[in-house]
Amino acid sequence: MNAYRIGRRQWLGAGAALAATSLAGCAGMSASGPSIGRVVVVGGGYGGATTARYLKLWGGNVDVTLIERNADFVSCPISNLVLGGYKQMSDVTRGYGGLKAAGVKLVQGEVSAVDVAAKKVRLAGGAEIAYDRLVLAPGIDFMSEQIGGLGPALDSGRVLHGWKAGPQTVALRRQIEAMPDGGVFAMFIPKAPYRCPPGPYERACVVASYLKTAKPKSKVLVLDANPEIQSKKALFEKAFKDRYAGTLEYRANAELKELSGNLAKLEFEDLRADVLNVIPPQRAGDLARSAGLVNINNRWVGVNWLTMESTAAAGVHVIGDATFPAPAMPKSGHMANQHAKVAAAAIIQLLKGEAVNPTPVVMNTCYSFVSAREAVHVASVHQYDAVDKTFKTVPGSGGVSAAANQIEARYALSWADNIWADSLALA
Ligand SMILES: Cc1cc2nc3c(=O)[nH]c(=O)nc-3n(C[C@H](O)[C@H](O)[C@H](O)COP(=O)(O)OP(=O)(O)OC[C@H]3O[C@@H](n4cnc5c(N)ncnc54)[C@H](O)[C@@H]3O)c2cc1C
Repeated sequence: MNAYRIGRRQWLGAGAALAATSLAGCAGMSASGPSIGRVVVVGGGYGGATTARYLKLWGGNVDVTLIERNADFVSCPISNLVLGGYKQMSDVTRGYGGLKAAGVKLVQGEVSAVDVAAKKVRLAGGAEIAYDRLVLAPGIDFMSEQIGGLGPALDSGRVLHGWKAGPQTVALRRQIEAMPDGGVFAMFIPKAPYRCPPGPYERACVVASYLKTAKPKSKVLVLDANPEIQSKKALFEKAFKDRYAGTLEYRANAELKELSGNLAKLEFEDLRADVLNVIPPQRAGDLARSAGLVNINNRWVGVNWLTMESTAAAGVHVIGDATFPAPAMPKSGHMANQHAKVAAAAIIQLLKGEAVNPTPVVMNTCYSFVSAREAVHVASVHQYDAVDKTFKTVPGSGGVSAAANQIEARYALSWADNIWADSLALA
């Protein structure tokens, strides 16, 4: 650990305090005594893993089962560095052993159905698990049908999204490596809201950084369906101009309509590229939809922000990217971790028949690399507003970096180490 790295306890302390979940109410609970209830958590990503961990940490004698389809946790944050060749998949992969040691029952499997009335979930193999309270943290799934030809192109593996870290990240890196010098890497950004507002622009910088050195005649084309850069705008504009002029071209209002082979059709032009990296439009994960919880814009799950309980089904809490966000609340790993703490504290109180914290506060910090060694950040603090029953940003809190710098690149890697340790109970 280097001098710039923030101590884990210090970070965890700040995060927990700012999450302002009812820690005081939970203090002194012990793991002894009869279980106060059975909680099933589906999805072991940023939101689900953190909920499982904190239900045990704060609740002790809650019976917690975490069901996740994958054997390991693979992080989207930092995965753009894998695309640039600056990190390996092993750097963004962690195990679930810490949660197991913390007393969470781990089930590797696919949840195929939720029976809200009978309070049980069904696994793809047919097994059923009953719950008193259910937490769904399924992340996002894609609306590929909105772009002609995209579904088959993704299924064939010819076109990649790389927007769920794992095999897609590895395959996209291979495509970038196989690109000829003088080739074109075209990235398509969907209309907001999508997972990680600054993520596409970070990717553009990191891929451009790699190509500028390894294949200097190549080009990165950033085709954004939005009218402008969605996060850290001035910082990314500066990076595009100062670092990648001649390598990277950014176009706003460039919505992908159809894919046909290597041809991408936009409203007013067609273009060919050697690598087509299409980030599809997104909605709440499939399980939220099949469980009947998607009740906003036919895309997202509405929640009661004091408990993260779905507004469509009692006893089912939904957290992370699957939720319809509060104003200015990003879909981020950090925010999913914060939702998880609100949900965990509320569930413990509800199982005990006690009042939940009426004034939660959550926060977000999101770092983006603009090169292999320099990063920028955006931060925000969100306070629950009892009148409008939603989180609102706290005036004067948060902000963005003044300029890209090397210290924040180190902070970014420390942020990742710390949030993985926090979410997965790593030593
Ligand atoms: C390239 C990129 C960079 C990013 N960088 C950052 C960053 O720097 N900082 C940041 O804060 N955020 C970042 N994000 C955003 C962050 O990854 C997401 O916001 C975060 O993962 C959301 O957490 P979640 O728990 O909602 O979903 P996820 O982390 O996606 O977890 C969902 C989990 O549910 C599992 N699952 C789904 N359905 C089922 C089922 N039926 N049965 C069993 N398991 C199931 C999935 O396998 C998955 O593990 C980035 C995203 C991308 C794509």
